[in-house]
Amino acid sequence: MDYGPAPESQKEAQAWLDGHQRTFGLFIDNAWSEPAELFASTNPADGTQLAELTQATDADVERAVAAARRALPVWQGMGGHGRAKVMYALARLLQKHARLFAVLETLDNGKTIRETRDIDLPLAARHFYHHAGWAQLQSEEFADYRAVGVVGQIVPWNFPLLMLSWKIAPALAAGNTVVFKPAEFTSLTAMLFAELCLQAGVPAGVVNIVTGDGRVGSAIVNHPGVDKIAFTGSTEVGRLIRIATAGSGKKLSLELGGKSPFIVFEDADLDGAVEGLVDSIWFNQGQVCCAGSRLLVQESIQERFLNKVRARMENLRLGSPLDKSMDVGALVDPVQRQRIAALVDSARAEGCNVWQPACELPADGSWFPPTLITGASTSAAVAQAEIFGPVLVAMSFRTPPEAVQLANNTVYGLAASVWTESISLALDIAPAIKAGVVWINSANQFDAACGFGGYRESGFGREGGREGMLEYMTALAEDARPALPVVEAKAKANVKPAAADPFAIDRTAKMYIGGKQARPDSAYSAPVFGANGALLAEVGVGSRKDIRNAVEAAHKASGWTSATAHNRAQVLYYIAENLAARADEFAARIAAMTGSKNPEKEVQASIERLFYYAAWADKYDGLAHQPPTKGITVALNEAVGVIGIVCPNEAPLLGFISLVAPAIALGNRVVVVPSEAHPLSALDLYQVFDTSDLPGGVVNIISGNADELARTLATHADIDAVWRHDGSLDGCAEVERLSAGTLKRTWVGGAKGRDWYSAAQSGGRAVLAHASQVKNVWIPYGV
Ligand code: NAD
Repeated sequence: MDYGPAPESQKEAQAWLDGHQRTFGLFIDNAWSEPAELFASTNPADGTQLAELTQATDADVERAVAAARRALPVWQGMGGHGRAKVMYALARLLQKHARLFAVLETLDNGKTIRETRDIDLPLAARHFYHHAGWAQLQSEEFADYRAVGVVGQIVPWNFPLLMLSWKIAPALAAGNTVVFKPAEFTSLTAMLFAELCLQAGVPAGVVNIVTGDGRVGSAIVNHPGVDKIAFTGSTEVGRLIRIATAGSGKKLSLELGGKSPFIVFEDADLDGAVEGLVDSIWFNQGQVCCAGSRLLVQESIQERFLNKVRARMENLRLGSPLDKSMDVGALVDPVQRQRIAALVDSARAEGCNVWQPACELPADGSWFPPTLITGASTSAAVAQAEIFGPVLVAMSFRTPPEAVQLANNTVYGLAASVWTESISLALDIAPAIKAGVVWINSANQFDAACGFGGYRESGFGREGGREGMLEYMTALAEDARPALPVVEAKAKANVKPAAADPFAIDRTAKMYIGGKQARPDSAYSAPVFGANGALLAEVGVGSRKDIRNAVEAAHKASGWTSATAHNRAQVLYYIAENLAARADEFAARIAAMTGSKNPEKEVQASIERLFYYAAWADKYDGLAHQPPTKGITVALNEAVGVIGIVCPNEAPLLGFISLVAPAIALGNRVVVVPSEAHPLSALDLYQVFDTSDLPGGVVNIISGNADELARTLATHADIDAVWRHDGSLDGCAEVERLSAGTLKRTWVGGAKGRDWYSAAQSGGRAVLAHASQVKNVWIPYGV
């Protein structure tokens, strides 16, 4: 028995293109510009030209940003319900025109009609429905937040309309206006969407769509009138955007590449896993950021499983994407084909086994056969690089810990798929994998209610779910932040030192690494003078080597992350209790350093803050989502890992505690640079920590030059996030710029100060969000 052809009609889509003379301008302020500086969009399945689009200029981007700015009060003035109605209309219109969208997407992108019709379109509509709901509930559910403002959004070509929905829906729901740029290969469904905006009553300037290549993206990124950039695309461009926005104060979310593991244990339902694998790596020809491109299979079943995979690959049907019975369509462009072919050739050259089923490739267009690579070393290019094509690299493991180790052996951290019939094994593995999404006995599941996004070099920020909404909002407390305080970096020596200073003793305050006092590697120390100019003590001048030791100690203290939240809370309470016991001593120290008239207030506020984050430690719970599939999705708030923290100069104790306590409450380990001006009360804390059951290595304190130490933190490969709050504008910008190397998450004070006494500014969920990252674990059920 064989399949007959089952082509989907392209008549309406071609008629729609003809109706526009196959030429498109830009959609700005609800009007179409005259097409200019045209570039072609082709059908990757046969290489024919579909239409021509406009390469936007800097002036066009300027107009789009201005229109978006003007539209902000209009859009926000409509209120949550007003916006919800418009977004609901968009969802309905997407459903109404779903077939036209699906065919147009298939023509433009080369993916099969099965996927555009059954996955992309329903999910796009679902995104608008779901977010219409968030618009409706915004004032109630996000009462402490406001919209960010004008948002620049840039997407790749692999899910053109779906990525548009993921970007535009939450932005609009929160009350932002957008300047959106589709990928240059696949802009057509965005043009059709612009028409829906007119029909749905989206006010002028709320959605602006500019087409063109990376230069247009870059113009959006660099435009000073844009308040936030949301980018999906390659890690390489994500890095450029991180660098370009450093120090600008722009909010940023990056959804980048991946090299996701697909792990099959020996007790898995192997036939189910094979089907999952098809959905994982041959979905959209593997041009999926979260494709399960690394198959990790338990050694005991390796041969049996691979035989099943090969047999299934023989049955994959590759051909015209408009044919409803095709599994594998065309690649987006010949450039992509060449990239994939080069990587597969490199595997051959390295002696790997490259297997492809007998499969006839169409003569025209851009195609690549499903491919299985075995025998690759873990360091081979095909095992490490994102291939972004229908190429699976298979490896084996023996034990669950080895599976986790292999799974995490990548710079990325987007997704993972775990196959086992043992729920306890699956739920043991899921938290151990460094990825933003884990699918148990399933793959490539998405829903608007469930956040999606990466760890490590797969980027930061989430799309979908509550956490996705927060990416498009700013906490009101941020607006209340004061101007930068004026604090001299270092108090100067007085020519006439005051005699009766109780701390004027000849001692060097040590640093604190791995639970032990440590002398600086440089063997240099610097004097710390009190407010009255008296020499209070010397402090070690920390260096790169000290930071390295501290990071190593922090990594060794990983038991803190897996400790129960209850245990962590107890330790924080204990620290508070021991600090209270020495309150007078700390108050005297603060007074001596800063000249504060009311140092007791700072100590009491620090004790209260410790209580505050101890209270949060076991209450910052995740969520259980119920997406429209049979199962639940558990959104876990996980620790970020090792965080480098540069403390404010002012409030030397409270600033330190306000940053360290939330970080460790949620299971992070920290390397902290205390106030450069007044470091002693932080260094004194080691005595408190030592008596409070805080495991060595959870908090490490390195004193010294904040700029130099911050630079080392931001460039250190084993640090996951850097926070800088010492009031140095240039220093904050530098941290953001340097963090691009490994795409660390950053939280910087930037151009404003912070009232460390204010619970709103120095506490709350917004701070806890910096100390955590959301992992969504999909758990299907049913038999
Ligand atoms: P790309 O980074 O080259 O392009 C993505 C978008 O960025 C395009 O619109 C492009 O025009 C624009 N762009 C290019 N240079 C720019 C610059 N300097 N400044 C601003 N914008 C610029 O990526 P691609 O090759 O189109 O897409 C494939 C990549 O996207 C893969 O790495 C894939 O993993 C990633 N991706 C990630 C996700 C996710 O959610 N994490 C989803 C889909 C795709």
